[in-house]
Amino acid sequence: MKKALILVLALGLAMPFLGGCGQGEDQSAVEKESQATPALCGNCGQLKGSDSCCQDGAETCSGCQLAKGSPGCCKITKGEDVALCSGCGQIKGSDVCCADTAEKCDKCDLAKGSPGCCEIAKK
Ligand SMILES: [Zn+2]
Ligand SMILES: [Zn+2]
Ligand SMILES: [Zn+2]
Ligand SMILES: [Zn+2]
Repeated sequence: MKKALILVLALGLAMPFLGGCGQGEDQSAVEKESQATPALCGNCGQLKGSDSCCQDGAETCSGCQLAKGSPGCCKITKGEDVALCSGCGQIKGSDVCCADTAEKCDKCDLAKGSPGCCEIAKK
């Protein structure tokens, strides 16, 4: 899981060098932006672009209609992508985002049990 993420990031970094010239700058800037911001997918509740994102056959939660047990399950609204804070792992701008009192995860140093805990890289 983590290895795959690193691979995706590495590919993302290598892309601009591999890509041909003559393409609109705006488009690549937009793509870079979306790759840099960790987000939960509004379709499935998983980390957007991860291996499990929008996977066929994933069990659906009866409460929220997102993938059962996904980081966004019963936390985000279906149909809306939600940006995660790379400083704390919580939903960006939420009440708990970067709260001083939050317990930190031993492994990833983000807020323990947050949607991004052990899913995204702390910045
Ligand atoms: Zn998805
Ligand atoms: Zn749910
Ligand atoms: Zn935060
Ligand atoms: Zn963690």
